[in-house]
Amino acid sequence: MPADIKSMYEDELKKELAALGEPSYRAAQVYQWLHRGVKAFDEMTNISKKTQRKLVENYYISSATIEKKLISDYDDTRKYLFSFADGETVESVLMHYHHGYTSCISTQAGCKMGCTFCATGQGGFSRNLTASEMLAQLQAEQQDTGIRISNVVLMGMGEPLDNFDNVVRFLRLVSSENGMNIGMRHISLSTCGIVPKIYALAELDFQLTLSVSLHAPNDDIRSRTMPINRKYNTVQLLEACRYYAGKTGRRISFEYAMIDGVNDSDACASELALRLKGMLCHVNLIPVNTVGGTGYKKSRKERMQSFIRILEKAGITATVRRTLGSDINASCGQLRRSASHAGKKEARKE
Ligand code: SAH
Ligand code: SF4
Repeated sequence: MPADIKSMYEDELKKELAALGEPSYRAAQVYQWLHRGVKAFDEMTNISKKTQRKLVENYYISSATIEKKLISDYDDTRKYLFSFADGETVESVLMHYHHGYTSCISTQAGCKMGCTFCATGQGGFSRNLTASEMLAQLQAEQQDTGIRISNVVLMGMGEPLDNFDNVVRFLRLVSSENGMNIGMRHISLSTCGIVPKIYALAELDFQLTLSVSLHAPNDDIRSRTMPINRKYNTVQLLEACRYYAGKTGRRISFEYAMIDGVNDSDACASELALRLKGMLCHVNLIPVNTVGGTGYKKSRKERMQSFIRILEKAGITATVRRTLGSDINASCGQLRRSASHAGKKEARKE
């Protein structure tokens, strides 16, 4: 079985190529080509045909194929449905902010976590993505648009901390100097709250932004919408967050999807303020995106403003997140659900 060459660190590649009898400078050349997004070894023009043949025999290069693309009329946000070699599909969204391009990528095909408001959660789990498949999403977007991505958020389909080793590998690869060189300070990772993995991530001391999908001020409400809360409750989660912020010196970003009549009362805001008191953090309020069949509605504007006022009065900084690409349903999960069959058919034809 050929090995996944784009998931290898540069020093791993060095050892591999040395074992194939290649000189030591070869690894740097191959690594740079891979991270520029070549799809085949014969695109590596400074590598001899003989070496290219060796590479073909031993390795494969994973890439992401565009199955569908939606471009927002409002703000140029692009949403992609990508397929991989086995026909699995994931979504990714490319957004244009004043400071550059941010790509929101998937870390798993589907998700096991089953949050009741989330389209991905409703669609079930297929498999983990490899580090190279995470890179491939960024590379496909750069090639499609000709732009350079400056920021990455792991907020697409899947729970990054449920695919911990591949995600850590991706983070190291994408930030490497000879790779895409996107610094950790330009990367955010969003989690539903897999507590032991938050501690594990803290130990790595990456300078990325940790986003925690909180969405409720207490266990009662959170367990109803997020099954993970029955395993790791809000006391355990917030303790892990305090530890993380203390260890890394990085502010935690709490995501809070405002759902009409579920978690958006003034009492919820006061309780949230109390629970976050003294923590190095920021709260992002997002009007919930209505997903078919869930029955959830987004909170009204006045409700959100009142919520934010209570948080701010208590000294907790909070913002309402600007929603980009609202006309193309830019939050993840819905495109895949409607197109996954078509994606799989296409892949089988190859
Ligand atoms: N699994 C990770 C990252 C992917 S989900 C996590 O849960 O954090 C990315 C973000 O979108 C999370 O904050 C998630 O709670 C949020 N989200 C999911 N469905 C949503 C919806 N219908 N409306 C608003 N936000 C949603
Ligand atoms: Fe999975 Fe995140 Fe969706 Fe929950 S919100 S089901 S953890 S992708």
